[in-house]
Amino acid sequence: MRPRSIDRSRRGKVWLVGAGPGDPELLTLKAVRALEEADVVFHDDLVPPACLRHAQSTARIVAVGKRGGCRSTPQAFIERRMIAEALAGKTVVRLKGGDPFVFGRGGEEADALRAAGIRVEMVNGISAGIAAPAAIGVSLTRRGACHGAIFVTGHATAEGSTSPDWDALAQASRSGLTLVIYMGVSSLDHVCAALLLGGLDPTTPAAIVQSVSLPCQRSVVTVLARLAIECKLHELTSPAIVLIGKVVSDAPAATLAEEAVA
Ligand code: SAH
Repeated sequence: MRPRSIDRSRRGKVWLVGAGPGDPELLTLKAVRALEEADVVFHDDLVPPACLRHAQSTARIVAVGKRGGCRSTPQAFIERRMIAEALAGKTVVRLKGGDPFVFGRGGEEADALRAAGIRVEMVNGISAGIAAPAAIGVSLTRRGACHGAIFVTGHATAEGSTSPDWDALAQASRSGLTLVIYMGVSSLDHVCAALLLGGLDPTTPAAIVQSVSLPCQRSVVTVLARLAIECKLHELTSPAIVLIGKVVSDAPAATLAEEAVA
């Protein structure tokens, strides 16, 4: 890569864009504008096809998905492709599910692009962890019910990362912070056991919301002690958000029971 030898004015740029949790109506106007301007769109698996309709018919649409545990496009390859397109003067959109900067590696991609001298514009999307409570009728930071929320990954095996400190998170939750857990379904047994061991009350309200905002959205609302078993019982799978905390008790139970059974 020799960005310095290329005329800056002829370079394209890369928009790092969040597509939101799935419902195409949750795209921001800015995301739509970026898609309309794009010559090339690199998108993840979690981006619904309807979002891509905003791109021009002449735009190249490239799938570069990498769901946990599945075959994936290497991160370095994606970055190289984006840099090459931008250096060739193209307007590139990198479209990611939710918000690119919430467990989305948007920061790493921005770093790589900037290091290559590429102009980057960041466009937030609605993160699944923000959308999930509302999707089940819960206000995430409802006054009087909690002091705030913690966004944490339940996936502990990312390279170089350590496990979240579940003891500390149990303590935080007891002190009135709602836990919003991404990538938590596959390790749910472990997460729940660790939180209980950390002293979190087994009767703490808890929910899992799968495929937030999509027609196939499903959820269960229960208590911490039953969360893992209810998840299995209702066969909830990734992508899903786990919510733990008092605010979850605001979910209208009747609706959710029907939804879970359907
Ligand atoms: N950047 C994304 C998160 C990517 S990490 C965002 O801001 O939403 C992938 C995890 O996000 C999934 O394992 C799941 O926990 C969550 N997720 C993404 N889309 C989701 C959806 N539509 N419904 C529920 N969870 C979702």
